[in-house]
Amino acid sequence: MLLPTLISREQLEQREAAFLAGYATPSTLSGGREYPEAESQRRTAFQRDRDRVLHTSAFRRLEHKTQVFLNVQGDHYRTRLTHTLEVQQVARSLALTLGLNETLAETVALAHDLGHPPFGHAGEKILDELLSGYGGFDHNLQAQRIVRVLEQRYTSFPGLNLTRATLDGLNKHHRTELPEGQVQPSLEAQLVDAADALAYTAHDIDDGLRSGLLQGEQLQELDLWQGLLERTGGLTPHTRLGRHVLHRELLGWLIGDLGQCSAERIAASGVQSLAEVQGYSERLIGYSGPVKGYLRQTRRFLYANLYGHWQVERQREQAEAVLTQLYTRFVTKPALLPPQAHVLADRVGLERAACDYIAGMTDRYALETYAHLTPPTGGQGW
Ligand code: MG
Repeated sequence: MLLPTLISREQLEQREAAFLAGYATPSTLSGGREYPEAESQRRTAFQRDRDRVLHTSAFRRLEHKTQVFLNVQGDHYRTRLTHTLEVQQVARSLALTLGLNETLAETVALAHDLGHPPFGHAGEKILDELLSGYGGFDHNLQAQRIVRVLEQRYTSFPGLNLTRATLDGLNKHHRTELPEGQVQPSLEAQLVDAADALAYTAHDIDDGLRSGLLQGEQLQELDLWQGLLERTGGLTPHTRLGRHVLHRELLGWLIGDLGQCSAERIAASGVQSLAEVQGYSERLIGYSGPVKGYLRQTRRFLYANLYGHWQVERQREQAEAVLTQLYTRFVTKPALLPPQAHVLADRVGLERAACDYIAGMTDRYALETYAHLTPPTGGQGW
């Protein structure tokens, strides 16, 4: 019997060379790994990174972490996991049409929110305040910390030992130094940033309407919404179907604009290689001027009307009480921490170890742990 030939990594790399644009990041330019490892026989360096990210505990926990709405509130709202998958979808689709490396974009998208603590942005702010004397807390830095240190899956090195290109992609807002001569991240990483903004804008409007915290009438003041209504012939979001059609049209519009505008900017820049992208004076993946303005206006609107809604403020209040209490209890009585946190505390200090432990919790686990530590008659139970 003739066995089919298995495709080798070298062949996959040849496919990339034939298929990707010159300005893309081929897996042969991954920049290598911190701890040298033999290459995989059947997977490119980025496929391997992607698979490593997908099999982490931090990735699985995204399912029970808040995007805007508390994870325990309903089954239909976005969670960090569904948000991550939406970002991945947009990033992959556009990577393919722009001639970029779809697998690198996918990997960075899957990992981009790994560092979020429980209770969304409220949780991040609270941890940052609690840790103010110990270096603070930032979800982008935490994502790097998770993949470089905290996930323990190998005997020969800490973390996942991801490639330089993937780590650079997670270095959002350049919180850590870029290698010399490099002022911009790869186009794949730029694409994930833009896809992230696109996804949360569209799905926060959708979840806001679904929850009733936002009303269709309020959205009338937004240029983005007006543009959308024009495109859909004045469809209203008052029915479930209407909302779904509007959400889909919004995604299609923004994805189309991002793809078209990025293609034009790449062409106008004349960049021909990854090195030229990294040394270019500005980012090349982005929206057209008008859409960029619409998104900025929408962001301000969402801060004022959705993230600042009194019902969301109440969640924030809950989050603050829970995280402050957990942190205070753990640092004043370390015996309450599990063994792995003690091992870490010996290396990085009790405060950081307690923070890592809390940041890794899902919303649900944080609430449960808080309840366990609170006397049932204390009047503070959930
Ligand atoms: Mg995100």
